[in-house]
Amino acid sequence: MQKKIYERVPVANPELPERIGRLNELAYNLWWAWNPEALYLYRRLNKTLWDNVQHNPIIMLQQVPLATLKKASEDPEYLRSYDKLMADFDAYMSDTNTWFNKNYPNHGNKSIAYLSFEFGLHESIPAYAGGLGILAGDHLKESSDMGLPLNAIGFIYNQGYFVQKISEDGWQETSNFYLDFHKLPIIPLQYEDGSKVLVSVSLPGRDIYAQIWKMQVGRISLYLLDTTIPENSSYDQQLTAKLYTADLETRISQEILLGIGGVRAMRTLGIDPAVWHMNEGHAAFLSLERCREMVEAGKTFEEAAAIVRKSDVFTTHTPVPAGNDKFPVWLIEKYFAPMWQKLGLSRDQFIDLAKEGTEWGEQFTMPILALKLSEHNNGVSALHGVVSRKMWHFLWPERSVDEVPITSITNGVHSFSWLSRRMGLVFDEYLGEDWRVNPDDPKNWEKVDSIPDFVLWDVRRHQKRMLNNYITRAARKAWLTGNVHPVQIIAGGVMLEPDALTIGFARRFPTYKRGYLVLRDYERLIRLLNDTDRPVQIIFSGKAHPADEPGKLIVQQLYRAIKDHRTGGRMVFLEDYNMNIARYLVQGVDVWMNTPRRPNEASGTSGMKAAMNGALNFSVLDGWWAEGYNGMNGWAIGTEAEYESNDAQDDADALSLYETLENEIIPKYYNRNDPAAPSPDWMPMMKNAIKTLSPMFSTRRMVSEYVRKMYVPAANND
Ligand SMILES: *Cc1c(COP(=O)(O)O)cnc(C)c1O
Repeated sequence: MQKKIYERVPVANPELPERIGRLNELAYNLWWAWNPEALYLYRRLNKTLWDNVQHNPIIMLQQVPLATLKKASEDPEYLRSYDKLMADFDAYMSDTNTWFNKNYPNHGNKSIAYLSFEFGLHESIPAYAGGLGILAGDHLKESSDMGLPLNAIGFIYNQGYFVQKISEDGWQETSNFYLDFHKLPIIPLQYEDGSKVLVSVSLPGRDIYAQIWKMQVGRISLYLLDTTIPENSSYDQQLTAKLYTADLETRISQEILLGIGGVRAMRTLGIDPAVWHMNEGHAAFLSLERCREMVEAGKTFEEAAAIVRKSDVFTTHTPVPAGNDKFPVWLIEKYFAPMWQKLGLSRDQFIDLAKEGTEWGEQFTMPILALKLSEHNNGVSALHGVVSRKMWHFLWPERSVDEVPITSITNGVHSFSWLSRRMGLVFDEYLGEDWRVNPDDPKNWEKVDSIPDFVLWDVRRHQKRMLNNYITRAARKAWLTGNVHPVQIIAGGVMLEPDALTIGFARRFPTYKRGYLVLRDYERLIRLLNDTDRPVQIIFSGKAHPADEPGKLIVQQLYRAIKDHRTGGRMVFLEDYNMNIARYLVQGVDVWMNTPRRPNEASGTSGMKAAMNGALNFSVLDGWWAEGYNGMNGWAIGTEAEYESNDAQDDADALSLYETLENEIIPKYYNRNDPAAPSPDWMPMMKNAIKTLSPMFSTRRMVSEYVRKMYVPAANND
């Protein structure tokens, strides 16, 4: 029999006055992360403290002076906001007339399990490295808004992802930190006697255990596995310490824990998902565990695999063969010999489930395992769908490329997480109420044309000032440490001008993103930056993977240019990119630039966030932008041609980049007499961008496609 499981929501501050006592409950539901009015309730208690605690409501409640809380609990104005917000929160949580219930009234209780290595939900929860995690976080938030019957599984990393510092010479230095779980919005699950809820998986020579925590994301439950418990050896406690280690044994153990442990966690919790969604190949071992359950209950492996294939969903995010997660066969033998026996398979049959011949010999490739045991597969943009079908064609040699069973669902972004509060208010006023209910409906967005130019421009200038203020605060904070060279403060952005044309470039720093492209003709760049009447500023931010030496060299190459006095303090690098910096940037820059080497960008999402905030995209026609660009809502860099060498591609794309800046972007932006007056060349493009891109690249459109094309067919075993 299933033992009953209890959630005990921790008490952040036992002295919190009862009248505002639900601030504790709210702090443990990430609904606050996409409701600016909720954040405002914490922030207005003490703005400086709020920034110092990285916008973490739990630490805020722990640290804010008791007198401040008392005062708030007696302040009629505060209480009015509090009562209204709590009423909104209750209405949201109890609403049964959701998008999902309206569209799929007969779906029954067939739930979806969503597994991912990373989840980017908020800057105070460092469980993400980049795009993959942000996408997973946005997927959960949108699933909550739409009322999907979805439960998620991931890890809580007590050392998160690394903190980035840039040395005076531009070298990326990394440091780690230890998270205190009492300061995170995670809820321990317990049995009646107070004991923890655990799952276990077998690794060579031992069983390891993971405690299950729960994070409430609106209506969605995200279950987080944690091995830092005394039941494990100190070595095994490290398994969920850090996101992405280079060590293969740690990596395979993590993937066993996510895939196999993920299935067992669902069983322990009494959840019986009808659909299992693997966000990238990291979770692909879940298919094996599902097969094992059925084989032990009497089915043959083939019968079990046929059932698993119909109910698994797999999303691939990697168009670069080398970027795929794979293990040497000897490692699989070491970890999986007991498993293939349980599945009734021979060693060779087992290895064949994921075998790939590579230049380093035979490998066990996780996306292959996922593809072979799932019939519902997708890439994350139309172009990435094409690239993926080509890339994996060898698995279906009897079919034509077009018949390779990998479709595409283009990524989107969760509008309410990324849109500035002010811009949201303008949309409320001019678009009508329905844009918040149906953010993917293009009809709602046609009314963008009715927003007066000066209204939109005022919001844009406000957002730019917010970005500038943030940068100045960060630079001052760094200077106050006494540990940085003055030139690093200049590199941090103190010479930026609020009204100059500002370009943003931020993301991870793998080589394919070509962070260096803008430096290709350095003299030409310097002329553009330093034009007295029409200056250009470029803000860079992003982390290179700690093991990615070429990526770190690109950061250094950029940083050296940034430090060069000839760039005039108009190029800037913001350290330690995270969701907070991302929000300031996508809301505050005029132009979002992206220079991937085509076709290596599976989708890209930052440009989508920028577009709905009124920035114009200036990007290679790769990933999402190949679909989003319409000739009037931004600019393309380069063409869709293929080149004989990387060098030739870089030359052509850099040339296009400078020419478009000189002939299009700069003149259009500066066609104004006064910074307060919007340019008549710029505003129609901005409106076209907001209008066309916001609905199309919302997670509302994305998740509804997942429901229609993947979840519902998988739940019905089609
Ligand atoms: C959106 C986002 C990303 C993803 O950027 P891409 O454009 O998809 O490369 C990475 N990191 C952070 C912090 C983000 O907000």
